[in-house]
Amino acid sequence: MSSVYNFCAGPAMLPVDVMKKAQSEFLNFAGTGSSVMELSHRSKEFIAVAENAEANLRKLMTIPENYKVLFCHGGGRGQFSAVALNLLGETKYADYIVTGAWSKSAAEEASHYGNINIINVMDNIDGTQRVKPSIEWPISQNAAYVHYCPNETVDGIEIFDVPNTGDIPLIADMSSTILSREFDVRKFGLIYAGAQKNIGPSGLTLVIVREDLLGNAHIDTPSIMNYQVLAENGSMYNTPPTYAWYLAGLVFDWLLAKGGVSAIADINQQKAQLLYQYIDQSTFYKNTIAPENRSLMNIPFWLIDDSLSADFVKQAEAQGLTALKGHRMVGGMRASIYNAMPIEGVQALIDFMKKFAAEAK
Ligand code: PMP
Repeated sequence: MSSVYNFCAGPAMLPVDVMKKAQSEFLNFAGTGSSVMELSHRSKEFIAVAENAEANLRKLMTIPENYKVLFCHGGGRGQFSAVALNLLGETKYADYIVTGAWSKSAAEEASHYGNINIINVMDNIDGTQRVKPSIEWPISQNAAYVHYCPNETVDGIEIFDVPNTGDIPLIADMSSTILSREFDVRKFGLIYAGAQKNIGPSGLTLVIVREDLLGNAHIDTPSIMNYQVLAENGSMYNTPPTYAWYLAGLVFDWLLAKGGVSAIADINQQKAQLLYQYIDQSTFYKNTIAPENRSLMNIPFWLIDDSLSADFVKQAEAQGLTALKGHRMVGGMRASIYNAMPIEGVQALIDFMKKFAAEAK
């Protein structure tokens, strides 16, 4: 194995043990003589893979019986449309909480299908970005649902309390936070997440939806996006992304063996704290998010002297610390440290940051 630590926001690094396991059965899965990706999705071998993955996800997240788990195509952006098409219903009206790039995109996409109330809940006080406490969010009484993004991958902003929306279904884009810490699924009407961060490779999108929300899709909803059709067909109305589903299953096995979500959440806390602590005491780097909203998964930081940023990225790459360049919308750097990133990777990054700062002086 090379000693590269990959800080990409997604597709992101996967656990080495998972990759090794996949490699060991790549050409001959379960004695079939074929790769998983060559098996029919209706074969008994693949059905076992699929059912096992779902059962383990249910275990990891304590998903109640009255929620369906759907294994979909189309990524997070596919769900920006699917959520609106399936859930706007007769009211055709929903609240979208905006805290950064991804929740804004979700609101814009939903606007094609209904009347979307965009609620900006960001405060920027003296250059520090903070999310208003959810109790202060001006949520409507008559919305079909409230949508928010608990972790903004681009901006590095996380919301740790789950908003209480009463009887109005709460919808969460958990693409970059699912399985990183514990969530009480019962508080949500629907959770969705693209796989390419904490679940597996891209091409798979998970939807966890409360059963009473099924069956209200707009008549024009494509069948492959209709939650009820997907649920009735066990996510096999069309050919699912079988290899990504299989790899997700391996990631769930790995996570269970590590002690589940609460165990990984402790490690994630430690990793993020190490990096934020170093950034905060440094006069060379900065992060401008209020401590209570700092993402545990995506940590943006800036060099105070931005003219050194390109050199930082170049030298980091040469040391095997890859994909640190910040998103083009916000600049600077971004270290994405999902579940698969070991604490040694974060330590290696901090060691490099110290060395770079010392040599630049
Ligand atoms: N939502 C969030 C929070 C994301 O981080 C991303 C991708 N980085 C998306 C949505 C879009 O996902 P996709 O590219 O799978 O459509």
